[in-house]
Amino acid sequence: MAIQIPSRQLFIDGEWREPVKRNRIPVINPVTEETIGNVPAATAEDVNIAVEAARKALFRNGGKDWASATGAHRAKYLRAIAAKITEKKSELAKLEAIDCGKPLEEAAWDIDDVAGCFEYFADIAEAFDSKKKTPVSLPMETFKCHVLKEPIGVVGLITPWNYPLLMATWKVAPALAAGCSAILKPSELASVTCLELAEVCREVGLPPGVLNILTGLGPEAGAPLASHPHVDKIAFTGSSATGSKVMMAAAQLVKPVTLELGGKSPIVVFEDVDLDKAAEWSLFGCFWTNGQICSATSRLLVHESIAEAFLDKLVKWCENIKISDPLEEGCRLGPIVSSGQYEKVMKFISTAKDEGATILCGGKRPEHLKKGFFVEPTIITDVKTSMQIWKEEVFGPVLCVKTFATEDEAIELANDTPYGLGAAVLSQDLERCERVTKAFQVGIVWVNCSQPCFSQAPWGGKKRSGFGRELGEAGIENYLNVKQVTDYVSNDPWGWYKPPAK
Ligand code: NAD
Repeated sequence: MAIQIPSRQLFIDGEWREPVKRNRIPVINPVTEETIGNVPAATAEDVNIAVEAARKALFRNGGKDWASATGAHRAKYLRAIAAKITEKKSELAKLEAIDCGKPLEEAAWDIDDVAGCFEYFADIAEAFDSKKKTPVSLPMETFKCHVLKEPIGVVGLITPWNYPLLMATWKVAPALAAGCSAILKPSELASVTCLELAEVCREVGLPPGVLNILTGLGPEAGAPLASHPHVDKIAFTGSSATGSKVMMAAAQLVKPVTLELGGKSPIVVFEDVDLDKAAEWSLFGCFWTNGQICSATSRLLVHESIAEAFLDKLVKWCENIKISDPLEEGCRLGPIVSSGQYEKVMKFISTAKDEGATILCGGKRPEHLKKGFFVEPTIITDVKTSMQIWKEEVFGPVLCVKTFATEDEAIELANDTPYGLGAAVLSQDLERCERVTKAFQVGIVWVNCSQPCFSQAPWGGKKRSGFGRELGEAGIENYLNVKQVTDYVSNDPWGWYKPPAK
């Protein structure tokens, strides 16, 4: 039976609410190119209503209901959300697959990660109760000092389409654990499962206004959220270009931001690897999620002595990647999310050709798929560092390759990018891996693998890939304000000024 896209409204103050302007955005299945539903399109008017609801939620009952409740209290809601997500896993995974095109098995994996992330931040919320007030030792006995960690306030969370529900969860779970109230604005290209998160919140009875979910276009719903005077912080994941706009909007109000942006990450393959294992990690590192991964290791650097044999292996492994409707069993590569993104990926490939690179394999629509935004897994060789394909993020299943002769050359090429999100090194020499790990100018390094990601480990980049860290124990800090409290505990007067005559 065909999967129905549930008909939803905006989720504001614990209720479904029609957008003020009543506009909707079509949901297009990237396999069939057909419209299969729609989602509401919020505008600045809806943002205002949602921000007001979030502020009320924060201060309701003097804050006791949420912001200043115990972490253990908030953890109960996070665990209830995790349990409901797990209960609805099969339905959510299917919706994710038809909305953004990722293979069903990957989508199911994402939904497990979503539940796991809510669970993890429930643990963090509980542990927070013993950490939110910490003493500070001072050099003067007349003063006592402690630090309070408090929710930063109302937060705006803006997310992309490649892991629609998971990227939202990476922000929602720590924000709620910290005691913030939030407005989530997912990507207009895939927000169906984020509206289902709203339904989950309703079902578990999350206090109204604690989480509001506004689907809508970036300039119409994201921009007013970023510039709203009553939003205390923006956490953004998306492209570097939009991240820069968000940061500029926030700068007008000196509003803090964290930015998780794009990348052009390297994978360095040394001559001592097992060729098959290294080939599989190299392809997974770039083609997972249909190649639409911020941290995709999309620049392959391979030692010149094994380059020919390794490329040969890569092509053979590529031929075994099942490209199909994401709902088909065994699918390992689905379509690109939208026609616009598909055109962009194809343009990158044709520009690479025009600039003199060689398309070793792929580079076109698979012959057995006449419809849908499908691109074959593509490997590009004869790449020069001046070429667009070397410098810019494609966000599709396209791997570009260069060879190197020495470790120093590999490191120089790996760091030859304005981005700094991830990097991978494959070698049996673990001392070499350690040296290369230290030399990578990035926030995440994979050794003898590429892409695995865990809620327990901090995630984020440097350079043009952004700043701030999500996940891990530090993930909650993004949503906390540090308040210093200093107490004068002496009975003596301060004695700086001469006291007036009695
Ligand atoms: P995008 O920048 O186009 O959009 C991201 C979000 O910003 C969307 O919700 C969009 O509606 C919103 N937006 C657009 N214009 C806006 C504006 N003026 N003000 C406020 N919000 C606005 O990115 P995308 O195409 O959805 O996602 C792909 C990008 O995300 C890639 O560059 C990828 O590398 C990056 N990404 C990074 C990470 C990470 O962890 N670093 C993770 C996933 C994706």
